[in-house]
Amino acid sequence: MTRKAYLTIDDSPTKETDKLVDFLVERDIPATLFAIGSSYKDMHVECEGMEQNPTPIVRAIEKGMVIGNHTYSHRRSSEFSFEEVVEEIEKNERLIDKLYREAGKTRLFKVLRFPHLDRGCGGWIVDYDAAGQYGEHLKNLFGEGLNIDLTPPSAEQIEKKAKIQDYLRQEGFVTDIYEGVTFPWYKETEMASAYDLLGTFSTADWMANPDFEPYAKERSWPYPTLEALKSKIDGDADLKDEESVHIIIAHDHNKLVDTTCALVTHMQDSGVEFLDVASNARLQPS
Ligand SMILES: [Zn+2]
Repeated sequence: MTRKAYLTIDDSPTKETDKLVDFLVERDIPATLFAIGSSYKDMHVECEGMEQNPTPIVRAIEKGMVIGNHTYSHRRSSEFSFEEVVEEIEKNERLIDKLYREAGKTRLFKVLRFPHLDRGCGGWIVDYDAAGQYGEHLKNLFGEGLNIDLTPPSAEQIEKKAKIQDYLRQEGFVTDIYEGVTFPWYKETEMASAYDLLGTFSTADWMANPDFEPYAKERSWPYPTLEALKSKIDGDADLKDEESVHIIIAHDHNKLVDTTCALVTHMQDSGVEFLDVASNARLQPS
């Protein structure tokens, strides 16, 4: 069974990025790394940031990976103003451009994924009500492990989200370059028209980070081990679909690299072929 997918990895760079990139190169897997600008640490992520730790990102570009924008400091967009969101994006854009120049490579397109998939409306990742018959499916997709808060957003948040989308469109951010996704719940909802990249399957790999063990127990996370994460892959009905291309979300976190690589290997061994989005970009007329 062959299925096609784009691999996207959030939260680079870390101490493990070189190891992760070496693994991807060895298995001939192209990926998009969504990178952060500033160093920081919170419960979920320990990241060295491109500002302080540019070398692994330059190296990743040299090795053929695509670098996407994951904002400068990985904050939740719902918690600050439109102007601040723009600043978070632009500060990070300048860093990414600089590292492409250092690597001597042309940046083919601009792509962004919001931290925590917070697009300005908190846990209301997409408008579930507007998604009609697909609303429940999307709630499940994003609810899985995202600790989702399904409180509907405020009028201000809805307005901010629309302004952010408009800004991303004007600035030339693209998502349709990740082509071939045919799920109706993607194509017929705002997922396909978004100017920030969402995903069709999250590995939830971070649930098995050894540092999170106490939280995993306390909060009864459903996939706290590598085996549980593999069974999430094996059991996912969407991921069995051979018609649609998939957009896989994984993470680059310290202490997690072995788990993430094992999950990607598991997908590849079970017939997932990873596509190179950069070759789509090269085919597009400029
Ligand atoms: Zn993130």
